[in-house]
This record gives sequence, structure tokens and C-alpha cells, in this order.
Amino acid sequence: MFLARVNLNLNIYGIFMNFLFPKPVGFFRDDHSIYVDVKNVQGKAQSILIDCGNNHTVSMKEFLRIGTLLVSHAHIDHLIGFDNILRMNLRENKRIRIIGPDSMANVIHHRLQGYMWNLIYDSQLEIEVWEISARLIKKYLFLCREGFSKKHFMEKIPAQNPVIKTDHYEIRYIRLNHDITSIGYSITEHDRFRIRKKCLREMGLPEGQWLKQLKNKTFSPNDTMQVNGTNIPMQAIYKNLIIHEPGFKLSYITDTILNNSLKKKITEFVKNSDQLYCEATFLHKDIKLARQYYHLTAKQTALIAKEADVKNLFLIHLSLRYSNPFLLLKEAQSVFPNAQFPVFSDSCMVKRKI
Ligand SMILES: [Zn+2]
Repeated sequence: MFLARVNLNLNIYGIFMNFLFPKPVGFFRDDHSIYVDVKNVQGKAQSILIDCGNNHTVSMKEFLRIGTLLVSHAHIDHLIGFDNILRMNLRENKRIRIIGPDSMANVIHHRLQGYMWNLIYDSQLEIEVWEISARLIKKYLFLCREGFSKKHFMEKIPAQNPVIKTDHYEIRYIRLNHDITSIGYSITEHDRFRIRKKCLREMGLPEGQWLKQLKNKTFSPNDTMQVNGTNIPMQAIYKNLIIHEPGFKLSYITDTILNNSLKKKITEFVKNSDQLYCEATFLHKDIKLARQYYHLTAKQTALIAKEADVKNLFLIHLSLRYSNPFLLLKEAQSVFPNAQFPVFSDSCMVKRKI
């Protein structure tokens, strides 16, 4: 069963706000994307699209909210829907950021060059492309008002994780091996910390700046504090007063071969994900094909989910060679019972702006 996120997560101590609302888009066994709506934050183009398959079921409103596109690699099944994003945003005054592996800027530039752009020089749409290589992240800019003709070099920075960090979440990446580089992503809300106000009152402690330090754990292991005439270790005060909720984590891994080194890296990368979207392209009996085409088997995927203590595993990128896709599900569930097929969204597209 697909678990929808609710807007507010209530518990007995208070209210935590959720920010990330993912939903798979496309059709079952089709080229997919994951649309991650980012709510409860300021700014209109906040949503994130992971990969760019068949996105005809994404609504106009949702297209306009896209600010970031995370691309695993530039094979056609992961980028076929790019033109829809372009088309829907053509009259928007915004910058879309595309993150992908080496050569992404050239791929996007060629794609943009596939159309004629006269009569649209008043458009304010800008497309920024970040190429992640082993050591560097290179950034380029394309402007609609120039007919996307020039590839402007912006800057290069050392490769770093997280690649994006906002006030509410961070995006991390992992480089995978699909013969070419493929990139996996995780998006994680920041952990939330709240004060148990009732306990604070009961302990006779004041509100104030010190609580911020307590939340941030900026105290030494031996520090104490006087409470009602007794010295109490700060660790104990922290435990009593602070409610800590780990942030929601979504991970996305597709199009990679598995070897020992990558297995270790991927498992660490997706550790404790609330939702892992991961390819289950082949049955394990066809592992030779999986290796030949640099893909994962359903069993390999399930083992990663199990070892990484993932909560929900969604199987994507299923090979069409199997007339019964439920064999892939069965294989994954025999290792990781909480494996499931994602339920694809069916929101409808509305009129374009022009
Ligand atoms: Zn693929």
C-alpha cells in the first residue's frame, strides 16, 4: 500500500510540520518520475522532480511549481519528459535547476537546440545545469531570451554532499555505475527538535537562549545544571526536555550494476529511508543480463533495503521482458516483505499558458 504523507504529524508533545510530499508519476511499467511537492515553505517554484520519464499526468500547477530537476542519467527513458517541463514553464519568470552527471549541460543544450526560439525573446525562463563529476560540480546557464543559444559557464565548486541544503531539507547524491555514470539521490527533511514545555515548568527551569543550545547539543558530556538545588547532567536534561524526530527521508536509486563496493555505498546512502524508490529491473535468475546491462535484480534491491533498515521499498524500472511483473514483486518480498509497487498518481493536465 502506498503511504501518503499528511500535512501535519501530530504527537502528544506538539505539532511537527512536514515539508516533502512525494508521489510517483507515470504509469505502471512505464518511464517514471517521482514528483516531490515541497509544501509549507515560501516561494512558488519549490517542487522537485526526480528523473523525467512520462510525466503526462503531472498537472499544469505542478509543472509550474517545479524548481529543481534531479536526473539520474541521460538515457531516453529518464529524460523523455523534459520537453513537457520546458513547454509548461516557457512563459514563466523563473530559473529551473537541473542536476545530473557529467555532460548534462551538453545534453540539455542539444535538447534546447532542437527547437526554433524566435518570437520568444521576452521570456524570462532560465535553465541552470549542475554537472556532478567525481571531484567537481560545474554549473552552466541557458537563457530563453537568447534562444538558449549560449552555454554560459557560471562556476565550478568542489563536489560536496549535501549538494543542496535549505532551511527545511537537504539533497545528497551518490555516483553509480551504469556503464556511464548514473546518480542516485536522497532528500531528507532536517531532524526536528521541540521542547517539552510541561517538563520545563515542572523542573522549574526558565525559557531562554540556553534551550537553543540544549537543542543543538552544544554542551560537553560532563556539563551539569542546577535544578532545585541538585546538579543534573545536561545529557539527562536533554533526554527529559527534548523531543527529537528524525526528518523524513526519501531515496532514489536506479540504473546501476552492483558490486561489493557499490553495495556498501548504496546501503549506507539509503540507510533508514522512509521511502526507497529503487529499480528492480531483472529477476535474480537473470543476473547475467543484469550485469550485462548494468542493472539490479529484485533480490539485490530487496537485500539493500533490508540491510539499510528502509521502511518502505517501492520497486520501479521493471523490465518488460517478464509477462508477469508480480514475479519481481514476489522475489523482492521474499527478502524484504515491505516491498511494493508504487501507486501512480492520476492528476490531470490542464491548459497551457500559451
Ligand atoms: Zn533506465
